Amino acid sequence: MAKIIRVNLTQQTILSEPVPDKYFMLGGRGLTSQIVFDEVDPTCDALGKNNKLVIAPGLLTGTLAPSSSRLSLGAKSPLTGGIKESNAGGTVARKLANLEIKAIILEGIPADRSWYLLKITNTEATILPAGDIAGLGNYDTVASLQALYGPKVGIISIGPGGERKMSAASVAVTDPEGRPCRHCGRGGLGAVMGSKGIKAVVIDDNGVDGQLFTVADRKAFNEVARTWAKAMVQAKAGLTNFGTAALVNPVSAAGGLPTRNYRTGTFEGSDKINGTALAETTKSRGGRTGHACSPGCVIRCSNIYHDAEGKYLTAGLEFETIVLMGSNLGIDSLDVIAALDRRCDDYGLDTMEMGNAIGVAMEAGIAPFGDRKAALRLLDEAGEGTVLGRVLGQGSTVTGKVFGVTRVAAVKGQGMAGYDPRALKGTGVTYATSPMGADHTAGNLLPGRAGVDCSSPDGQIKASRDLQIMSAVIDNMGLCLFVGPLPPEMEIISRLLTSALGRPFSIEDVLEIGKGILRTELAFNRAAGLHSASDRLPEFFSMEKLSPKGLVFDVSDKDIKQMYSAL
Ligand code: SF4
Repeated sequence: MAKIIRVNLTQQTILSEPVPDKYFMLGGRGLTSQIVFDEVDPTCDALGKNNKLVIAPGLLTGTLAPSSSRLSLGAKSPLTGGIKESNAGGTVARKLANLEIKAIILEGIPADRSWYLLKITNTEATILPAGDIAGLGNYDTVASLQALYGPKVGIISIGPGGERKMSAASVAVTDPEGRPCRHCGRGGLGAVMGSKGIKAVVIDDNGVDGQLFTVADRKAFNEVARTWAKAMVQAKAGLTNFGTAALVNPVSAAGGLPTRNYRTGTFEGSDKINGTALAETTKSRGGRTGHACSPGCVIRCSNIYHDAEGKYLTAGLEFETIVLMGSNLGIDSLDVIAALDRRCDDYGLDTMEMGNAIGVAMEAGIAPFGDRKAALRLLDEAGEGTVLGRVLGQGSTVTGKVFGVTRVAAVKGQGMAGYDPRALKGTGVTYATSPMGADHTAGNLLPGRAGVDCSSPDGQIKASRDLQIMSAVIDNMGLCLFVGPLPPEMEIISRLLTSALGRPFSIEDVLEIGKGILRTELAFNRAAGLHSASDRLPEFFSMEKLSPKGLVFDVSDKDIKQMYSAL
């Protein structure tokens, strides 16, 4: 039977609780946000004893629904001061579903301020001392735990970034090869995990194949899932072959590729860091594209990147990392970007926040744009915890304040995600209004999507709102966003849920899940003190024309303020 595992670090207790009925249709982001709303005081200190870190697989994780093994983490964010959910692939969500664990709630703070490890198997959950792995990077942490518990366990861990409670700290999740290269990157959730004294969570589902979500009509459900998966394999071939780096060319063509701290929207070196360059480089060195980062993913947008000697360097090199560590810093070398990505994964830092922060530092003259060695050094300073590194590790907003830089591309304290909102205005509306801060995954309006001209202010409010609702649905299900948060996918989800529940579940019912999630998150943020005044982009986006297209962000404030009035 489905259960919630509640771990109190102050009392060093673990409880297995039944799942309240009201959580029945919630999973992933829907569940983490609801539990945070129900149990966390919105005014609490994000790194204090009253915040909680919630870990949840999606509603459909463990079923045959394709690409449905995303793992959501949620808490009050030390970066935005509001509610935050961040999800990643990897194997842990599927293992939790096998163990019929709907959520893990980490609460309290250890009285002795020591480091602990949470180990969960089919028969028990235990809190173990973890002092011997404290201070290690994610790669050594995982290697050490795999040596103890076997190569097949799933591991969630933090690196030095999370241990130092940096607001840019991520949480690593192991991929099918056992590498800590999938990250819940956004919002500083690694710092929340660090504040709980939890260095890692080990999930061992050996020999267990439970069902978290019961499907009433399995034959019908599996038929819909199989047909969907088959169609997706064909429709998403570009992502399979080139990864999300395939976005470099269209985003650049739209004039929205952040370059040198958002100075321009195209980059002269983009041919060296685009999807073609990535695919050719990985293949020529024995790496690969077309890698599945989690069980059951048919899109397989992930990649494995080898260095010039053909040795594994990193995996899951994605568009946002390539842009924010590449064009945004004036760096046109995939090898350097991959080395920066590897460091972020190992230190447990969000590549997007760190790319923004280093861009702001370069703007301040700490190093010139394009200086590869300086970028690597600055990231090492964050990993090593020098004073400068600790500033950068607090994210782009703090870095801007420390160095007196106002050109900081952030909303609610969170750096933007690799899409300039002057050229991609619907994404700009999402950055401004999402309860998640400047997070593209909350509703990313890409060039050519949703029948809206990204460069015109017209229609962006509705497009962003619709995408935010549908993205929340996708996140609730544990689906990867690349299955597509659009009306056709909502219809498929409606058919899946109709089969699963054994009763009609309309598209409106599906969308109502997304609306409910947003209402909950917005209510939390309001109670936390984030009102509509914080739903704004930095003013340089509306004042400074973005070359080469001369665009500014010109969606009206009045429309943005009314964005959620009819939610
Ligand atoms: S589409 Fe890409 S990011 Fe999404 S689950 Fe599959 S491999 Fe991971």
